Amino acid sequence: MTTKPNWFDTRIEDALLAHQSPDDEQGYFVYQLDDLKEHLEQLQQQDVIKLWFAVKANPLSKIIQTLDSAGFNFDVASAGELAQVLAQGISPDRVLNTGPAKSKKQLTAFVNLGVKTFVVESLNQLTWLNEVITEQGTVERPTVLLRVQLQWPDGEKNPLGGNSLTPFGLSVQEWQKVQVSDYPNLDICGLHIFQWGNMLSNEKMYSLWGQMVAPLTSLANDIGMELKILDLGGGLGIDYLNEGKQLSWQQIIADLADIKAQSGVEELWLELGRFAVAECGYYVVPVVDRKMNYAQEQLVLAAGINHIIRPAITEQPFPVTLLRSSTAPSQVFDIHGPLCTSMDKLGHLSLPDDVGVDDKLVFGYCGAYGFTESMPFFLCHQLAAEYVFQAGALIEVRPAQPATSYLA
Ligand SMILES: *Cc1c(COP(=O)(O)O)cnc(C)c1O
Repeated sequence: MTTKPNWFDTRIEDALLAHQSPDDEQGYFVYQLDDLKEHLEQLQQQDVIKLWFAVKANPLSKIIQTLDSAGFNFDVASAGELAQVLAQGISPDRVLNTGPAKSKKQLTAFVNLGVKTFVVESLNQLTWLNEVITEQGTVERPTVLLRVQLQWPDGEKNPLGGNSLTPFGLSVQEWQKVQVSDYPNLDICGLHIFQWGNMLSNEKMYSLWGQMVAPLTSLANDIGMELKILDLGGGLGIDYLNEGKQLSWQQIIADLADIKAQSGVEELWLELGRFAVAECGYYVVPVVDRKMNYAQEQLVLAAGINHIIRPAITEQPFPVTLLRSSTAPSQVFDIHGPLCTSMDKLGHLSLPDDVGVDDKLVFGYCGAYGFTESMPFFLCHQLAAEYVFQAGALIEVRPAQPATSYLA
């Protein structure tokens, strides 16, 4: 019998095998909340970093509630994410607002809803936020972090391996046009920097963070800021490709204690997305067809990038396993979804050779960047259901919805 991969929590296996809802024959998500809770508690066993949850990774109510009970705060980047966090009863004191598209109108709405912490990403955002606070008169000064985007000249040690320009934050040169004292209604006391993704090496992360301390502390100095908060964003990796690479959280804590001391800040913040929630999630989907094509075995599934698009846009497949025991040897399949575009491919992955029509596959690490990152409307398929697994039972949070629910 093939052994189950290490990302598969066998505690949910029986529940998935027993789950026979006709509504879910197009694929559904399950989040293992008991596992999530244990994982978050481990992340909180330290007093070096204040942890925020990047809501874009998974905005499901039950996920947010679990992060809330584990003492996480919330990083939101849209009015919708803010509304969802507030709807879970979370105080706006525990929300920070990031994102490159904050209009004055949006900033006003966030201030009115009680948000007091802003990561500002442009000179306009800084001016607008200051104006909003001035116009409101009575509200207390919000905590403001300036988002910095660094580049390293060619030839110098370049920790990012590339200087691709993004709309996130501003260069040191642009921020140097600012003096903190010009914005008396804002408590500008921190810097935010985050321009890497899915890092799987502790050494590389430490070297990256370490090289940011000097430019950031000197920027703070230049603009008259007392640097109290450093926010290093997210980007802590998940081993999607099963390369045997795993970040050590203990090492991250030790490294960040060092960065905190070097930069002399009072608070160090991280906004975790995938590192917090990826592992708790599974996506279950039936096989609709199997065929051999030009010497390649192909599987066609009931859903693909309409429910989980991430493999197609990152070339990192989610790992897969068969939802039943099999003694057959493994072989590699091209795994496709139902959309009439060659983009709809979930990977080139190993499965037991006896996998066939009506078998169910389970994809792992789908707790982050799954349901809400996808393209569910193309070709008018069904929207996926979302379940949580808690205390031994599957509980439906979002039922599957047919195309008629969104077509006009
Ligand atoms: C997406 C995002 C994160 C989380 O990223 P992960 O790679 O999932 O950890 C954190 N902060 C900001 C500002 C983001 O946009």
